[in-house]
Amino acid sequence: MAGYAEFPRSPFLFMMNPIFDVHCRRCARLGSFLEAVRLDHPDYHCRPVPPFGDPRARLLIVGLAPGLKGANRTGRPFTGDHAGILLYATLYKFGFGSAAISTDAQDGLRLDDARITNAVKCLPPANKPLPAEIAACNDYLGAELAQSPQARVILALGAIAHAAVLRASGLRASHGRFAHGAEHPLSAGRVLLDSYHCSRYNTQTRRLTTEMFEAVFVRARALLEGAAAAR
Ligand code: SF4
Repeated sequence: MAGYAEFPRSPFLFMMNPIFDVHCRRCARLGSFLEAVRLDHPDYHCRPVPPFGDPRARLLIVGLAPGLKGANRTGRPFTGDHAGILLYATLYKFGFGSAAISTDAQDGLRLDDARITNAVKCLPPANKPLPAEIAACNDYLGAELAQSPQARVILALGAIAHAAVLRASGLRASHGRFAHGAEHPLSAGRVLLDSYHCSRYNTQTRRLTTEMFEAVFVRARALLEGAAAAR
């Protein structure tokens, strides 16, 4: 992925960086796009979307970016669009969520030992952030990882999230290739676990089935329980 050549950056910088800034305007293209979307949909969130869930979570799920009618509308990751259907149902089934359905950021849903964020915090046109935008937003993900030492399993939804986690962890892309179900050791016992993204396209084409996604969560649970037993 473009942008890796400028690596590595100091992990100490990530300790000092904020994990989120709702007023961030680093990406001019995305800022202009959000303004245009806001004109058409004045009731939409149309700002960077913050991480959601348990701040002490051991499971951190990293998606790609807010969806137009999902997180960009409701202000909560994977809430209100198709991609959230399988994710929240699975989180609930595996004991990480208080409800199986997430359609409204005010619905009172809570996550237990799980947290969700995105590699890119602002809605990109056509769901395709540019490499420079992924790189610009990586400081926030790096700060979140650096300031969340209890996060043992980082579940990357898709290849872009996978690459963003490696970069935010101070690792080069060559550390491990994305593959559904693949595991990659990070520092201090942390594991990067890969899954295909639970997007409408992937689920409707059955590139990602419910069974495949649940198998990833079975593995995530096992990794978390193994880490707990090893303490
Ligand atoms: S994508 Fe990230 S870095 Fe770019 S403007 Fe949004 S919050 Fe800032």
